[in-house]
Amino acid sequence: MRKPIIAGNWKMHKTIGEAIETCRNLAELIEEQNVEVVVCPPFTALSAVNALGLANIGLAAQNMADAESGAYTGEVSVLMLRDIGCKYVILGHSERRELFNETDEQINKKARLALKYRINPIICVGETLAQRKANETETVVVSQVKAAFDGITATDAVNVVIAYEPIWAIGTGETASAADANQVIATIRKTIAEIYDQEVANAVRIQYGGSVKSSNIKELMAEPEIDGALVGGASLDANEFAAIVNYNVAK
Ligand code: PEP
Repeated sequence: MRKPIIAGNWKMHKTIGEAIETCRNLAELIEEQNVEVVVCPPFTALSAVNALGLANIGLAAQNMADAESGAYTGEVSVLMLRDIGCKYVILGHSERRELFNETDEQINKKARLALKYRINPIICVGETLAQRKANETETVVVSQVKAAFDGITATDAVNVVIAYEPIWAIGTGETASAADANQVIATIRKTIAEIYDQEVANAVRIQYGGSVKSSNIKELMAEPEIDGALVGGASLDANEFAAIVNYNVAK
């Protein structure tokens, strides 16, 4: 049984003080026991959030360097993330791919490095609107997934989380229909089964991301292949993010 994982990607938002306040509030509001809750603050707030020692909130970074250490001004390494208490790191978010020209090869290199140091990568994949309109969704996503897992052993692969994020649904208020998201995620799982085997495919958690909010999370989570969500805008507010996490709590 895969435990759902819901992660809040704060992007370039929140000072240290704001991050602390949001996490303290969120920790109080989480009622759901069967969902792993993760926040992804900016680098500058990771240490402060970790120091809160909140048992019901895990910590993720939004990116990391593709080298362990060295002369890479402005970069943050996997060893630094481990040092600061990160359990996860988001890799290959579409904003990194599009705005910072990150390639599949770099994302794979980062994923292997993260796994080497026992940090679980949350690897983002997803198609543009033009690719969707050209019926290329599955081709694009399958190719990104194959590249992401290149050279990763089956033992490590089960610790990878995939976030299927159709780019046209990120920050736009548009959501893929639950059925569409489920279908693409099923294809991703089939691809993982082809690379490894069904056991590995059954263990890997695959999230949906793209304008997830408290009003649509229940429908998404009702789909059998969707194991959680990567939430952007709606994770910035503790009440709204808690409502997403508590989607299954009876009112
Ligand atoms: C994201 O940035 O990963 C994301 C899904 O953003 P939003 O929820 O705001 O669409």
